[in-house]
Amino acid sequence: KGVVAIVGRANVGKSTLFNRIVGERISIVEDTPGVTRDRIYARASWLTRDFSVIDTGGIELANHDFVKEIRMQAEIAIEEADVIVFVTNGREGVTAEDQMVARILQKSKKPVVLACNKIDDVAFRDNIYDFYSLGIGDPIPVSSSHGIGVGDVLDQVVRLLPDKEDDLPEDEIKFSLIGRPNVGKSSLTNALLGEERVIVSDIEGTTRDAIDTAFTKDGQKYRVIDTAGMRKRGKIYENVEKYSVLRAMSAIEKSDVILILVDGERGIIEQDKHIAGYAHESGKGVVLVVNKWDLVNKDEKTMAKMQKKLREDFKYLDYARIAFVSAKTSARVQTLFDLIHEAYDNQRKRVATSVLNDVLVDAQAMNPTSNFEGGRLKIYYGNQVAVTPPTFVLFVNDPKFLHFSYKRYLENKFRDAFGFEGTPIHIICRKRD
Ligand code: GDP
Repeated sequence: KGVVAIVGRANVGKSTLFNRIVGERISIVEDTPGVTRDRIYARASWLTRDFSVIDTGGIELANHDFVKEIRMQAEIAIEEADVIVFVTNGREGVTAEDQMVARILQKSKKPVVLACNKIDDVAFRDNIYDFYSLGIGDPIPVSSSHGIGVGDVLDQVVRLLPDKEDDLPEDEIKFSLIGRPNVGKSSLTNALLGEERVIVSDIEGTTRDAIDTAFTKDGQKYRVIDTAGMRKRGKIYENVEKYSVLRAMSAIEKSDVILILVDGERGIIEQDKHIAGYAHESGKGVVLVVNKWDLVNKDEKTMAKMQKKLREDFKYLDYARIAFVSAKTSARVQTLFDLIHEAYDNQRKRVATSVLNDVLVDAQAMNPTSNFEGGRLKIYYGNQVAVTPPTFVLFVNDPKFLHFSYKRYLENKFRDAFGFEGTPIHIICRKRD
């Protein structure tokens, strides 16, 4: 675990380096419906370490002011990251903008790796000595487009990453509220914390600037993960869409259960779908929360209509429960604790192999497989191999005979039999002769 941010002025090659570091992993995410294509956040690994990488260059202001933009990117990197990779153009030498970025980074005292990019040729190698003048350590010659020196950068990054995420108590349910700006994340957090019988035990800063709140309710420990902008307000970039997505991403990663907030009054917009797509893709527990329900003019059909709309717009989240609340009046806010708990438990549910195989036999008897891709699927047996989320491996004659609708059918059978409300489940087929 750990977060690495890439900063540097325009056109120095940040995205190329990002793509190099992230490698083929990027495509996994892009298959998920509703997820934006131009990624600025992805998982990566080097040696034995897993971490996430942010390309701050992808976070842009509406009116392109390059100086403001680069300042914002550096601030975001400092706020989000454990290690910062500062990319410069090794061929052009040090510029005034580089010096500005260097000063901001220096002040932050975050560990920085200085990469001098576009050194495609040994002939340019001597250029890098210039960069010592930035005062942030040894410059590393790199060619992102040729993949030269990227390993050296990553060696350095891995050395500087913190050893381990702070050891959080195991019996604590970590959740976060995500959604576009003004959907009511802070208000709902306060409403949840404001309930009687909630004991806020500590408010502490973690390694980053985020402020998470731990509390106990009815004997259960919880931790609500801060999605920034919740408590620290007034940053110019707070309403930049990509920044809020980024915040959501890091909150999702630290959480067991995600509350996706939508605005009951204003309805669902494209940005909600992006955020929901990321939540789904994370494999974490999910609850869909319609907030500001107090503002809606209702008749007896309004709730059903909204429910239908949510199911249509968030098709892939069909396992998530829907709650209608008002952070303002606290109406039904209480019920969220049960839904969080349910999703958390179902994420961790284990199914006995014998029972699983009974369900598989029944499912096939009721609805036999048919020919697809030149053969008929035979399922020999199945096994649950993981939790968070529950993951099943089915041993079959040939995985390519599995039609997606049959997979869907099996998933529904598992859900009916075992109850996996609030959590995605994964079904994987393996060939066995
Ligand atoms: P955030 O940006 O997602 O954290 O949103 P805030 O919690 O700051 O809420 C944005 C605005 O919506 C504020 O003016 C809140 O008072 C208001 N608001 C939040 N939840 C509700 C609600 O359930 N009902 C009503 N009427 N207003 C709400």
